[in-house]
Formats: sequence, C-alpha cells, structure tokens
Amino acid sequence: MNKLIIQAGHWEHPVTINRNKYQHKSLSCWSINPFVGCQHACRFCYVPSTFSPPVEALLTKAGVGDGDNDWGQYAFLRRWDEAAFLKSLVLAEQTLVSELNIDGNRAVMLSTTTDAYQTLRGSNASETLELNERARVMVRRMLELIRDRSTVNVRILTRSPLARQDFDLYKTFGDRLLFGMSLPTLNDQLARVYEPKAPAPTKRLETLKLAVSTGIPVYVAVAPTYPEQDEEDLAKVLGAVVSLQPVTVFHEPIQIRANNVPRMKLEAEAVGHEFKEDVFVDAEWERYAISQLQTAQAVATKLGLGPVFHPWPDAKLGIRRVRHAFGPKYSAWIDECWNRISAWPCRQQERKAA
Ligand code: SF4
Repeated sequence: MNKLIIQAGHWEHPVTINRNKYQHKSLSCWSINPFVGCQHACRFCYVPSTFSPPVEALLTKAGVGDGDNDWGQYAFLRRWDEAAFLKSLVLAEQTLVSELNIDGNRAVMLSTTTDAYQTLRGSNASETLELNERARVMVRRMLELIRDRSTVNVRILTRSPLARQDFDLYKTFGDRLLFGMSLPTLNDQLARVYEPKAPAPTKRLETLKLAVSTGIPVYVAVAPTYPEQDEEDLAKVLGAVVSLQPVTVFHEPIQIRANNVPRMKLEAEAVGHEFKEDVFVDAEWERYAISQLQTAQAVATKLGLGPVFHPWPDAKLGIRRVRHAFGPKYSAWIDECWNRISAWPCRQQERKAA
C-alpha cells in the first residue's frame, strides 16, 4: 500500500447530480458524491469495482498507486462550481417520471461511492481543518439548493455521526428527506476488522435514535453483514432497529467485488482475526449469501419488521443456474425482492389519506 494521500480541491471535475445505475436496490435515481475515495476504508467496499479507465487515470495522475488496493487511503474533494451543480439539478428536476427507474422514489442519494460525512485527514492540521470546513459548507449548500430549487427527494446514507450537524437542515425538508445509516452489526470489535476507520456501529445507533427523537424519518441499511454474524448477532442488530420504527430496513451480505476479498483478508491478518475466506469461494458464496439473506429476513419478520424489510440479493443469485438449483420457491422469492419499491414518507402519508 502507498502512504496516505490526501489533496484538497485537486479533483478536476466538480460535484454534480448524476443518474445512477442501481438495479433492484430501490435506493434512488441519482447520486451526489462530493469526494472521490473514502477514508472510512471499509475493506469490503464495492466502489473500486465501479472505477472507469478515465477515473483510474485521474487517480494515477493524483498520485494513487492502485485505486483498488489502496482503497481507504485517499479522498479527493471535488471542486465546487455552483453553476455546474445547478445545471445538473435542473436536469434532474426536469426528467420525466416515465424516464426514471420507478423504484428510485425520485430521490437523489448522498452518497453512493463515498461518505459525505467522513472526517478527511489531510497531511497537516491546517489542511485537515480547511478540507473538512470546505466539505461541510459544500454539503450544506448542495442540500439547500436541492430543497429550494427543486422538488427532488433526498436519501442520505452515512456511517458517520457527523451527520448530526445537518439535522437542522434535514428537518426543513419535511417528508422529502430520508436519513439512513449503515448498521451491519452492533459488535464494535468485529466492525473494526471490516470497517477499520469508520465510526463504531454503537455510535451510529445513537445517531439514528437522535434523528428519530428530532422527528427525522429514518431507514437502516443492515449492510453488508459479515460472515461471522449468526442468527443471534442479526437478532441483536435488528432488535435494536425495531425501536427506530424505520421506513425501510435494507439487508445484504458482503458481495464479491473488485479486490475486496484480498483486502478483507489482509486487514484480518493484520489484526489477528481469523478470516472466513472459504465463504468467498464462488459456489460457497452463493449458499452463504442466500442463507444469510433468508435468516435475516426470518429474524426481521419475527421481530415485526417484515413489512419494511427489504433484502438485496445480488444479481449473481438470480441467474438461471442458481434459480434452477434452489427451486421455484427460491426463484419467486428473488423476484419478489427485486421488484420491491422501498417506502417513502410522503407515500405513506398518501396511503393514509387514501
Ligand atoms: S463508507 Fe461506504 S464508500 Fe466509504 S469505504 Fe465504507 S462502504 Fe465504501
């Protein structure tokens, strides 16, 4: 791995709103990613698998040796160009609903390939301060523009309690904004193996509780869960989620993407944790992923979360060979998961009014 590389304002492309290509996730129609890279350094992170050759070339130009293997060691703040951002906002606002993925709730997601509320670590204290201040101002400005110049919904997803600093702003969106956190487990020690620089899950739960007590509608991504998590561990996290009365609870196990298996293995070895590498061998992974998805769903149903529980089976789990191997009941379950549309607060209100 190369040494930590952080640069402020050197990513030449400005931050804008872009259509995303999520399939079967029912998360959003658009994404906003204020950074390239993420210093939360989740070892399983799928983002490096999305890098196009031009992005890889820009990373190399910026001094990153290997965007995948060095994942977690860099984060570049995108340039703020209000005119460019507004142009992309107008485009989003004017897109006909018939042209959008219907499961995206006409929402823009902050963020999908980074975490908007990470603490950036610069090469010295003043750079760190400046970077974080610029990022904080940029995130708030983007949200204010979306609120005031469009009718687009906003879905926030973060692992960071720093999101609290914008709760006042979230509240001004009413039912146009959903706040969510990734909360795979409540086992802080285990989480350090897979998400070494992200804030502890127990702190995230506190943040979600604070959001609820402030009147902000929340959802939870119990994702991605780790191979060490058995039914008891899943019951602990889902049991804690019940009290939040979330609009949706998403779930997925870790998927195999880019170089994430060697990345997880390296980290586990570094901290003396026995890594369950065997579950990440293709055929075994299918069995493991299906079993964890269905166990989590059964636990959620027992806890009364069934109606809001939304499993995310990977595309690989819906191919003909797997459907054939696991039978028609399994096949119907996959289709049901993939065709779900996650709830949105305003829709709930509409349903109540109907
Ligand atoms: S917080 Fe999200 S984007 Fe950042 S490293 Fe973790 S999974 Fe990847």
